[in-house]
Amino acid sequence: MSRILTALTAALLLGGAMSSAASDPAQRLGKAIQIKTISHQDSSQIDLREFRRFHKFLRASYPRVFTELEVETVNDYSLLIRWPGSDPSLQPILFTAHMDVVPIEPGTADDWEHPPFAGVVADGRIYGRGSLDDKQGVLGNLEAAESLLAEGFVPARTMVFAFGHDEEISGKDGAGKLAERMREKGWHFSWMVDEGGMVISDNPLLPDSPVAIINVAEKGYLTLTLVATGEGGHSSRPPKTSTIGRLSAALERIENNPFPTRIVGPVAAMLETMGPHLDQPERFFFSNLWLTGGLVADQMGEDPTTNSFVRTTTALTMFNAGVKENVVPQRAEAKVNFRLLPGDTPETVVNYITEVVDDPAIEISYDQWDNVPGVSDYTGSGFSVISEAVSEVYPEAVIVPSLLVATTDTRHYIDLADNQYRFQGMLVSLAQASSVHGTNEYIDISSYEKAIEVARQMMILGAR
Ligand SMILES: [Zn+2]
Repeated sequence: MSRILTALTAALLLGGAMSSAASDPAQRLGKAIQIKTISHQDSSQIDLREFRRFHKFLRASYPRVFTELEVETVNDYSLLIRWPGSDPSLQPILFTAHMDVVPIEPGTADDWEHPPFAGVVADGRIYGRGSLDDKQGVLGNLEAAESLLAEGFVPARTMVFAFGHDEEISGKDGAGKLAERMREKGWHFSWMVDEGGMVISDNPLLPDSPVAIINVAEKGYLTLTLVATGEGGHSSRPPKTSTIGRLSAALERIENNPFPTRIVGPVAAMLETMGPHLDQPERFFFSNLWLTGGLVADQMGEDPTTNSFVRTTTALTMFNAGVKENVVPQRAEAKVNFRLLPGDTPETVVNYITEVVDDPAIEISYDQWDNVPGVSDYTGSGFSVISEAVSEVYPEAVIVPSLLVATTDTRHYIDLADNQYRFQGMLVSLAQASSVHGTNEYIDISSYEKAIEVARQMMILGAR
């Protein structure tokens, strides 16, 4: 009998040891990084087999999620997972993230401390493309759900997870199709939370406390095409004004006339929330924006790191003209990319730029624009759930609403949820945050574990 017990105990211990080694979230994130779910701008370069491998890996790694919950593959490579709540009268909530990553810029792979797709776990870190953006988001949500299922957690409110596969190249085939599918099903969410916010360890204004940035709005995205057409011909008999000259002059006017600065709601809320934690004079300036707003906006507009918070930005990104050195082109074309503050619309941008260009011979057009998400409620229940989850894990953190100056998949889901938030619970430094899409992307293991705990808390508190 005792021998059987000993054997059983040994088996249990061994089983325990094996499952704890196999259940290491950091190792799993490392494995996920090894699968090259890369989104290339040129879609013929995308290796879709890697996405299938990634699905297989997720299925094997999170068996409870994939057997106990309702899982649907959407448009072949995106995932929709529903965890039914016990109280159907409660409005569901939505967690989103994306499975694809950006490629490595040619010639930079050797600059990485560990190869970008090796998924090395060393020195308390997990290295590789996607460790921050956004495989930790996908796996972090699944780790949280898997562990809650193992604990027998039963949500009152239905929770849905939507993981797109092409966020880095517009999100139309992933998030776009996931949203379409959810509309077909008639789903509507009280709130959703996507990537795009985090806990910053070294905010220069608040060096002593981590700052949790929950983004309640994001900037809009619009590209205008400007075309000058005119007389071309042989360069030995050039026209007085060439298409290149005309277009260049217009672009110079655009660059020299940036949009005016202003402080929008989420940025005001961020400054006002930080105000009481700051020393003078910032404390006074940020706490009295009714008086100081114009000055603060102008100062932020002067600083390249804060400029995009206070204006619709203008970036000249493409210029094409000419095919031969001795031929004056009949057509010159340029593209200008704008990131819109909440409140600005594609129409207001087109009107402003038309006025600045002030040249009827230049045609200004746009293909289409994406929906510009509105500003979500930062006093409502979704925001307070996320804040409470942060405080559980980072009791010392200052929590601020803010404006995301980049774009995310969120814009595909805006009609599906009353409020959209962008936040994940990892702790990162500002330098580290800038490694996203760049070189040497990594996440600290402790930071990833905290992110998983924040996700768990968001589910526990959110599904009440
Ligand atoms: Zn991302």
